[in-house]
Amino acid sequence: MKNIRVAATIRNSIAHHDVNISVEQVKVVFAGLLGFIVEFSRRQLQIEISSIISDSLWAEAIAIDRYASELCRRAEKQIADEGITPQSLITCIKCWHDTYVDKPGFERCFLCGFDEPTTVCQECGIGMFKSESHLAYYGKWRVGRDNNKYEEWYPDLCDRCYDDFLEKGIKPLRE
Ligand SMILES: [Zn+2]
Ligand SMILES: [Zn+2]
Repeated sequence: MKNIRVAATIRNSIAHHDVNISVEQVKVVFAGLLGFIVEFSRRQLQIEISSIISDSLWAEAIAIDRYASELCRRAEKQIADEGITPQSLITCIKCWHDTYVDKPGFERCFLCGFDEPTTVCQECGIGMFKSESHLAYYGKWRVGRDNNKYEEWYPDLCDRCYDDFLEKGIKPLRE
């Protein structure tokens, strides 16, 4: 299901001329889909994909698969070499592999190179990538004990907390 959803997202971004994914990222995602469709067709439909498409197309597909496998192998080695533990790994939103290192000083996907910083929803504490967060305006808040010092507060919110904010207003003021 994840493979299909990722493919649909990329297809839609291409259809809407709004592609912000690199060639490496597309190849890695393609390799994941290829593995899935070959396996699914073989097991559920008793069809060998390699026998129903042209040799040249199949050769191209295999080349992309090899390229992605090599990238995966290197990423895994680099993750091990850096001593990165599974707790620091999250799913990359570009290549959908669990190879994004969410650790100060790294903050990038070792597989596809995606390097957007992560953030935390300031209401519920869920982690997300910066582009997945919504910036809400919470108004002016006094800083410390100084009556004249104010700060504009723009917390990062996740989808759910942002919808809640739009519907019901600023959460800290409701409690
Ligand atoms: Zn990635
Ligand atoms: Zn939240």
